[in-house]
Amino acid sequence: MAKTTESLMPAAFLGHGSPMNALETNRYTEAWSRFGASVPKPRAILVVSAHWYVNVTAVTAMARPRTIHDFFGFPPALFAVDYPAAGDPALAEEVAEIVKPVHVGLDHDGWGIDHGTWSVLVHAFPNADVPVVQLSIDARKPFDFHLELGARLAPLRARGVLIVGSGNVVHNLGAIEWSRPQAGFDWAHRFDEAAHAALAGQPGDLPALERHPDFKRAAPTPDHFIPALYLAGLAAAAKCPAEVLVEGYAFGSLSMTSYTLAAGCRPDAGGDGPSGDLPDPAVLPPEDTNI
Ligand code: ZN
Repeated sequence: MAKTTESLMPAAFLGHGSPMNALETNRYTEAWSRFGASVPKPRAILVVSAHWYVNVTAVTAMARPRTIHDFFGFPPALFAVDYPAAGDPALAEEVAEIVKPVHVGLDHDGWGIDHGTWSVLVHAFPNADVPVVQLSIDARKPFDFHLELGARLAPLRARGVLIVGSGNVVHNLGAIEWSRPQAGFDWAHRFDEAAHAALAGQPGDLPALERHPDFKRAAPTPDHFIPALYLAGLAAAAKCPAEVLVEGYAFGSLSMTSYTLAAGCRPDAGGDGPSGDLPDPAVLPPEDTNI
């Protein structure tokens, strides 16, 4: 039976910023909540997180993934967060099958649910009642590989799986400027706007941002940018542009922009709260926080 577009799950790229967003309420977390509430209850959530950046493509395949607190210098309350969603070993096997001939390893006991995933899901799916599977980013692969792998995941949208990329289009912890909690540098704006133009225009062109004049400042390490390539691949596969869910900047060198694909949820309707805070730089430099 042919699937109609109405039966497709939306997809998203969520700009997660500081893990403190997990504990806070601001216009970004409200947008993530709104997105989660707008989605038909998924069978499972497949997350490509910036924080599982390794030398292989793998998928979590354990029934009970642990909550990983993979950052430094934050308050105990953040280390106490538990996101007790189940895993989905059957989906992990399905992912490995659907992306062939790309090889995806099944991770039975290594990773879990990292903060790139839970810091947004505690808002989007606060009941943790939808199974969560993570897909790692193979750091050795070119951007086109990630775009194409995203496109290979597209059939999962018709099988009730919500695919979410979690990162930040602009992410330069070494350039953080504390005096600008809600602003972005000119170069951050230029790069974020170029990404917006691609995602909302020709998503398949997103890998070309590697040649953008501001790329090296916006993404000195590409781990937080790459999850956006997965949404771009899904959008390209659907021949449908992505839409902005919420946009903004934090500390000069982070873009908080989030995108959805065929989500049917309204764009950000405002709110003035800043993005989540970071540890005191006198205690820990931002580049050492691993956010
Ligand atoms: Zn991060």
